[in-house]
Amino acid sequence: MSCFGGDPNFCPECGNVLPLPGIQDTVRCPRCSFCIPVAEFSGQKIHSTVIFNPVEQSSVVLEDEEDSELKGPVIDRRCSRCNKEGMVYHTRQMRSADEGQTVFFTCIHCRYQEKEDS
Ligand SMILES: [Zn+2]
Ligand SMILES: [Zn+2]
Repeated sequence: MSCFGGDPNFCPECGNVLPLPGIQDTVRCPRCSFCIPVAEFSGQKIHSTVIFNPVEQSSVVLEDEEDSELKGPVIDRRCSRCNKEGMVYHTRQMRSADEGQTVFFTCIHCRYQEKEDS
């Protein structure tokens, strides 16, 4: 099942190097005009790498957030859900620098979370 071992992809008919897939859903071999659906040779790789990793990563990130949620200075901000005062204040730098800093408020009573971009 691995006629197309890696990059670049070769034509299974004549062994010619295939052009990179463009906006069409097929790649045509320039030498023998053999036609290959793009999904057939890029789909396999996408399946094995994309499906598992994000699930694993996001569950790790969620655990960290859970921990840090209620550690921080408590300010007199009124929770818009339970209407009690007292929310933990913490900031987080977003990944890209031009997005700036985001301030998070977590209610110490009901754990409702609000965020504000600064
Ligand atoms: Zn060919
Ligand atoms: Zn609340």
